[in-house]
Amino acid sequence: MIITLKKNAPIEEIHRLHDAFEKSGLEVHEIEGDNYDVWGLVGDTASLDERDILANEWVENVQRVSAPYKLANRMFHPDDTIVDVAGVKIGGTEPIVIMGGPCSIEGKEQVIRIAKEVKAAGGKILRGGAYKPRTSPYSFQGLGYEGILDMVAAREETGMPIVSELMSADKIDEFVENVDLIQIGARNMQNFDLLKAVGHIQKPILLKRGMSASIEDWIMSAEYIMANGNPNVIFCERGIRTFERYTRNTMDLAVVPIIKERTHLPIVIDPSHSTGDWKYVEAESLAAIAAGCDGLIIEVHDYPDKAWSDGAQSLKPERFANLIGKARKVAKAVERDIE
Ligand code: PEP
Ligand code: MN
Repeated sequence: MIITLKKNAPIEEIHRLHDAFEKSGLEVHEIEGDNYDVWGLVGDTASLDERDILANEWVENVQRVSAPYKLANRMFHPDDTIVDVAGVKIGGTEPIVIMGGPCSIEGKEQVIRIAKEVKAAGGKILRGGAYKPRTSPYSFQGLGYEGILDMVAAREETGMPIVSELMSADKIDEFVENVDLIQIGARNMQNFDLLKAVGHIQKPILLKRGMSASIEDWIMSAEYIMANGNPNVIFCERGIRTFERYTRNTMDLAVVPIIKERTHLPIVIDPSHSTGDWKYVEAESLAAIAAGCDGLIIEVHDYPDKAWSDGAQSLKPERFANLIGKARKVAKAVERDIE
């Protein structure tokens, strides 16, 4: 339930109302606005009668929220949330952030080499997988901790923050210590224990959409993280499974305005895992920027034919740089910048 309060309400009255809600077992989230203050009540509000609350002369408006997500809901937080990833801000009217890097880390030398190319092209955050969720148990599973340390070395070399996927809660300390943005992969979007675990830390989370998750399922997963105490969530759409076989997954870009309308959190698009083919990555990236996304995460490899995973969808550094050049022009058309 959302309660809108008049600005000049006496403080004793505010405390009285606040206590009354808390006594009935509700959490009160206060958001200060310029003209009104807004309270989001989280918990079972079924027994509250809107008319009783509206009878209070300092209450301007009362609205029931039918969506099951509260903390992620834009009604609870009308302003855009801006997530700070080790100094790189994502969301609102901040510049669009391009992240790039290999699907898998293949060693220190490889990741540093690619990181330098990503940075020179205009990338702001380095991606790289050390723990890989592979469909086949016989495929390369990632370098693990060694790969994380290679990413740390690439950050030291380039100054770019790093994003990497966390697959299980037992590695959370390793990630909190070393990684700037923790990715929850599509396959773990509804691993609720993992979501709760990353809710207990404050590091920003890049929450990928599950390949068969509805938008509401996905927002509820963000709600899990936020309800456990971590407000720093960034959505990442990477395409869903449909009957279509000419792309690896199906990207429905309407998700960008829908997420922006219903939530206050930033959204990033992954054109690599959605298309599955480097040839389509540029077109989808430009369309995503036109649609209003806050960032892109793109797989980049200098020898895609030799990549240990996802070579077919990885851009060579020159193509990545070229894409960013075009992306700047599209961003301008929708009144955003790319630094
Ligand atoms: C990845 O980013 O390397 C990855 C495995 O992505 P997803 O979880 O979207 O499949
Ligand atoms: Mn990949």
